[in-house]
Amino acid sequence: MKFVFPGDKIGYAEEFVGGEGVYEENGELYAAVAGRLKIEDRVVSIESVKKIPEINKGDIVLGRVVDVRNSIALVELSRKSGNDRELRHTGIAALHISNVQDGYLKDFDSAIKYMDIIKARVIDADLLKLSTKGRDMGVVKAICTNCKTELEVKGDKLKCPKCGNVESRKISSDYGKGKWE
Ligand SMILES: [Zn+2]
Repeated sequence: MKFVFPGDKIGYAEEFVGGEGVYEENGELYAAVAGRLKIEDRVVSIESVKKIPEINKGDIVLGRVVDVRNSIALVELSRKSGNDRELRHTGIAALHISNVQDGYLKDFDSAIKYMDIIKARVIDADLLKLSTKGRDMGVVKAICTNCKTELEVKGDKLKCPKCGNVESRKISSDYGKGKWE
């Protein structure tokens, strides 16, 4: 039995049908969640295994975006919000593009970027799925893609105080209000 993590390539769309916990990108199948790989009648799916005992559905967590694909962003969890203690077992959680905000989002580019720190709600603790819907959810810290300076809120955008670069994000109402490292 093979264990897979979000973002792991698990096969090709022409040999398997993607089931639960699997997504397709350019004809290739990837794990969207962490768990055990299951193949049955050419349907490949992922069976959940609870990876982080201290994470429960509804928890608010903080994490860093470590990879952004077409339809999911992978987030390395660092700790629960309002809790100074770090998570003992860090894990990679998945934020699907449909769970970023209310309403349609065409691509991640205008909402979530690599290296952003986000505040999110756990919507599935076994599969480590996140949502950033809601006013106080979303990006709480981001750096300029141009010069790596920490961005500041300017209206409904983020602006770089150093080079003037303006960027879009799904900004949390908590942006810049705490220490998020
Ligand atoms: Zn800049």
